[in-house]
Amino acid sequence: MTDTRTVAVLGTGIMGAAMARNIARAGHPLRVWNRSREKAEPLAAEGARVAATPAEAVEGADVVVTMLYDGPAVLEVMRRAAPALRPGTAWAQSTTAGLQALPELAGLAEEHGQVFFDAPVLGTRQPAEEGTLTVLAAGPPDHRELVAPVFDAVGGRTVWAGEDGARGDATRLKLVANSWVLAVTGAAGEALALARGLGVEPGAFLDVIAGGPLDMGYLRAKAGLILEDRLTPAAFAVETAAKDARLIVSAGERHGVRLDVAEASAERFRRAVEQGRGREDMAAAYWASFDDGAAPAADGGDGEGAS
Ligand code: NAP
Repeated sequence: MTDTRTVAVLGTGIMGAAMARNIARAGHPLRVWNRSREKAEPLAAEGARVAATPAEAVEGADVVVTMLYDGPAVLEVMRRAAPALRPGTAWAQSTTAGLQALPELAGLAEEHGQVFFDAPVLGTRQPAEEGTLTVLAAGPPDHRELVAPVFDAVGGRTVWAGEDGARGDATRLKLVANSWVLAVTGAAGEALALARGLGVEPGAFLDVIAGGPLDMGYLRAKAGLILEDRLTPAAFAVETAAKDARLIVSAGERHGVRLDVAEASAERFRRAVEQGRGREDMAAAYWASFDDGAAPAADGGDGEGAS
């Protein structure tokens, strides 16, 4: 078998478009489909065929990559694609779809004779653009050579978490990693919001932790977006983070684990969506700390300053 695969990417949002571009640049014949066609069109310049329907995109594909919003969207799109899929096609399901969606997705793959890979990714817009995502994958070892060149095109590393995609071993690892990402994002936003409310210079907070074990690149990146008002375009949108927080809480509930921080994150993201910030970067959950979505005066509004 050569290393070239005919690939169909279904969903060319923030992540899917960047992944598709790297798949094309690695030399794989590419077809793309997106619900809003205009987001798929720019990929034509990379040599991709822009399909009008999911079925047209997957026809003749060796590997189908789904990178949509959530499990129900994947199910709907793959049901439309299914009649055109040939048996033996590999399906790399990279959407963060959670555990609850998995049985139906894996069942659909089985019904249509596809080889199902649970393959969520770690990393956001920039690593997706650079082809340095971490692919968390689970699927049958004897079919991995089908998907390996595609994972190599989008990622810097593939971590094999299991041998049966339907078990969700890769999704489990993804949910654990995302619970950390969301907790850090929430804590960063709250610390900065508290600083603003108390009249503490954000720079003073960042300075006191600089270089110590509590300092971290992720805090600095998110703080930069908030403080410099660079919340669009999003690397990871608030509405997507809200969905992930709900998936994490629900996975915890189903497995007897109470997750207070994830619940609070879900609530903060929900409020930020309500404030009209759903398409901003998830760092915009910072604004959920302020009742009307607007920060108080720098002295905290109590007229007493920061003394
Ligand atoms: P995004 O830019 O919002 O893209 C979402 C995609 O899903 C778009 O192509 C959208 O189509 C499509 N979609 C939504 N609902 C649909 C439906 N009912 N039917 C058909 N298509 C539908 O999101 P993203 O950031 O690329 O994220 C995609 C997935 O990757 C999510 O599961 C997310 O959790 C996961 N992820 C994201 C990141 C990140 O940092 N951004 C990192 C790792 C994993 P339209 O363009 O027509 O709206």
